[in-house]
Amino acid sequence: MRGRGDRLAALVDERGLDCLLVSDLVNVRYLTGFGGTNGACVCAPDVRAFLTDFRYTERAAVEVDGWEVVTVEDDWLGGIAARLSGRTGYEDHKMSVRTKGKLEDKLADGVVLEGAGGLVERLRRVKDEDELAAIAAAAELADGVWRWSLERGLTGRGEREVASAAEARMRELGAEPSFPAIVAAGPNGALPHAEPGERRIGKGELVVFDMGAKLDGYCSDGTRTFATGEPGERARGVYELVRGAQEVALAAVRSGARGEDVDAVARDPIDAAGHGDRFGHGLGHGVGLEVHEEPRVSQRSEDVLQAGEVVTIEPGVYLPGELGVRIEDLVVVTEDGHRNLSGLPKPLQIVD
Ligand code: ZN
Ligand code: ZN
Repeated sequence: MRGRGDRLAALVDERGLDCLLVSDLVNVRYLTGFGGTNGACVCAPDVRAFLTDFRYTERAAVEVDGWEVVTVEDDWLGGIAARLSGRTGYEDHKMSVRTKGKLEDKLADGVVLEGAGGLVERLRRVKDEDELAAIAAAAELADGVWRWSLERGLTGRGEREVASAAEARMRELGAEPSFPAIVAAGPNGALPHAEPGERRIGKGELVVFDMGAKLDGYCSDGTRTFATGEPGERARGVYELVRGAQEVALAAVRSGARGEDVDAVARDPIDAAGHGDRFGHGLGHGVGLEVHEEPRVSQRSEDVLQAGEVVTIEPGVYLPGELGVRIEDLVVVTEDGHRNLSGLPKPLQIVD
């Protein structure tokens, strides 16, 4: 974790700040390794301070690497304020106006808060080898849970029942869901973020099954669309369209590719087939400590992909009242392409 503090200090300096207060717990975890629920970091050229309260002092001593551990006795915000100096950046995209106001009341003369959200998120985009291994392990575990779910069969079971069983299976395997699993069959599949309901999965339906595991703090995310028996020509046509769109988009992923352009590569064939308005979400997003993080691979993205980033590629077509298809892989961006972390087959799988 030591290198992360140094890289952050460089960004703080580049931004013209004297120090940075990191209060978002995911960012704190990224910087220090601390996994508890109360902590903050103060980073300046020669300061790497991790602050927590007495409940976590011992835990921090074990987990925190490369940062001085400071136990704040009773006045949490006062303890933080005492460590800040000069132009202090704070995470304005995460800290409430109320907390900021209370913190400002405790600042020494000459200390001013300045919005500087997103600096740690920028560092988090490119993953190191340990992070990539953790994400790959989460993806592999989720793949196993899909196979396990299919062995139990989908037809005749409730969407929620299938989703809950998959989540329970993840917990049995020592992980947790990185978000509530989505199982959406038939017309429900047309709602891209459908909450699984009581509806029973019928024969010959397409089933959108989107889930991810969280293991050692790192997330996976993936989707497959299965068919419970022959789904018919139209459904197959939509499936093959999405599969083709995903294939060309995957081929466009590489370091230096613009998120917007990779999105367009997937959107073009879907537009050409007359379903442009049925692909109502971005093509993909970064995944790491959070299941949705930078960079974005979407129509309005200004991000340029870099080697070591982990993104999803997930085109979909949703025909209201009828069916939905989404195919989502999790890939590592490399210099000349990508490494796919999703191990499930892509051809339409007919399952029980
Ligand atoms: Zn996703
Ligand atoms: Zn997903």
